[in-house]
Amino acid sequence: MLVSGDALLLIDTDRIKGFVFATPYLRDIRGGSALLDRLNREDPQGSDAGGGEPARVDPAAAGAPANAVDLTPVPTLVARLAPGSECIYANGGTALFALSEACVKRVIPEVSRAYAAVGASATSVWVSLPEGWTQETDLGPQLRLLAHRLRVAKDERPTHTVLASSPFLRPCEACGVEYSRNRLKRDRRQQRLCPACLARRDSARDATWASDLRNEMGADLARLPPPDDFEEIAETSSPSGYIGLIYADGNGMGQRVSKIGRLTHLQNFASIVDTSLKAAVGRALQSHLRPERRKGESPSETGQPPEGEAPSAGDDSRKPRRPFEVLMLGGDDLVMVTRAQSALDVALATVEEFERLTGEKFKSHGYAGEEWAKPVSLSAAVVISHSHFPFGSLLHLAETALKAAKRDGARAAAQVASPPARINFLVVSSASHVDFDDYREDQLELKLEPERAGEKRREFVLTARPYSPTGLNGLLTVTRKLAALPHSRIQQFREACYMKPLRGQVEALATLARMKEKDRALVWEAVTETMGRCDRREFPWFPAGSGSDDKRRTPFVDIAELMPFVKPQEVGERDGR
Ligand SMILES: [Zn+2]
Repeated sequence: MLVSGDALLLIDTDRIKGFVFATPYLRDIRGGSALLDRLNREDPQGSDAGGGEPARVDPAAAGAPANAVDLTPVPTLVARLAPGSECIYANGGTALFALSEACVKRVIPEVSRAYAAVGASATSVWVSLPEGWTQETDLGPQLRLLAHRLRVAKDERPTHTVLASSPFLRPCEACGVEYSRNRLKRDRRQQRLCPACLARRDSARDATWASDLRNEMGADLARLPPPDDFEEIAETSSPSGYIGLIYADGNGMGQRVSKIGRLTHLQNFASIVDTSLKAAVGRALQSHLRPERRKGESPSETGQPPEGEAPSAGDDSRKPRRPFEVLMLGGDDLVMVTRAQSALDVALATVEEFERLTGEKFKSHGYAGEEWAKPVSLSAAVVISHSHFPFGSLLHLAETALKAAKRDGARAAAQVASPPARINFLVVSSASHVDFDDYREDQLELKLEPERAGEKRREFVLTARPYSPTGLNGLLTVTRKLAALPHSRIQQFREACYMKPLRGQVEALATLARMKEKDRALVWEAVTETMGRCDRREFPWFPAGSGSDDKRRTPFVDIAELMPFVKPQEVGERDGR
């Protein structure tokens, strides 16, 4: 690591999610994500050498892209323009360099040009370093100033631009925002696209993290070609037609980073977070997304060739596809789509494994005593919906559900040192779902005005979301056990929760009385697992905990929401991991 150089340069991609998710098409999203990732990573060729697996089996990759963007990764560009510079980190849309101040003015416009070439943009800010600084110098004040300058520069940017209008200009047929300039020759649809969408669609190559993921996820999953659209993922779901969107990021990252003063520590911290997330996602995929064999299907149809046979290069379009797609992965950020029934398991496994891995790696680097080197927790949101639900709305729902999870974690952080992991979920059952907080307020929190004077207002909370990893594990386990019962019974409990309390209670108890003895035992087991020890006479409502005796909770709405997406036989699979 160099100790020459007298400036720090921070480059941060603008509106990264706006760029990646500009269109609702899976292939464009994958292309946009890969473009930004390759632009923002160090030495993509180096990391590709890994698995020995062939690059993506992408039909588009077969023909030479007509409009391929000549892309130089920003770290390579900076190394070329500022000899002797050092990349501290480059991932997740952000890069930090130590370099000579004289080079800064030369580097910034070239970086802007590199981003503009793919239709994106980045904000670059820099600070001078104190004379004679070394690896041991605490650069905390300079790093904080850099973060502040970035904030100011971003705030100064216009939030929207007004495009000129003319009958001779046609909007892009993919994103509908920018103006089209080219007709896409090799696309059957002959769409007119803006330069950014054209770059996205032509970026048939994998993102740099794809090979790391392939190494972790296991050969039989890595061998499957990626899905072409969300419908192909939905076809692998049970029930068919649904997808699960997972949106996750690290808790309290800004606060942690602000406590790191030495560049070597910052370099290691960024690398540990980035590699741990990739490994955690890869392992979660391997545990929960192995191709399911359908009845009457030979092993070769699941993508696994019979022993001793090489995978055939037959008709690519008829092969089963990967039941997932990672849409964004970098730093502490993750957006991915999986088959519906596995989304919660994948999210849970990722959250648990990421925290374990970061803790382990900080320790092995000898950072265990540092305040910023406690295991990093993730917050995650899982939204399950029909694959026809507009993707932009799905993403917005996931964003708001993630915010709710983070808020809850932050509240819990008042008692513990750092925000704990939280996982939120939502099953979209109607198009009126647009915002998690609205949904929660409208449908999951009932407030009943007092019937008699002197009575308190009573509150009925129909959910325990967001869950801690342990809580979600418990919920999934009881839901799987209850899934063996007729689903209509659980739906009756759910409906009882939306009735007036007394009537609901009578209905629920009557349903319970009609059940077989062993099924009833299963219901009580579920109640004890999710609510703790409860007074059975209160079914299906139970006190929400100490000190709030006017608040009642029930597990049956959460259980009923998840029930269609769990399978009773998966109990052994989870216990066996
Ligand atoms: Zn466009």
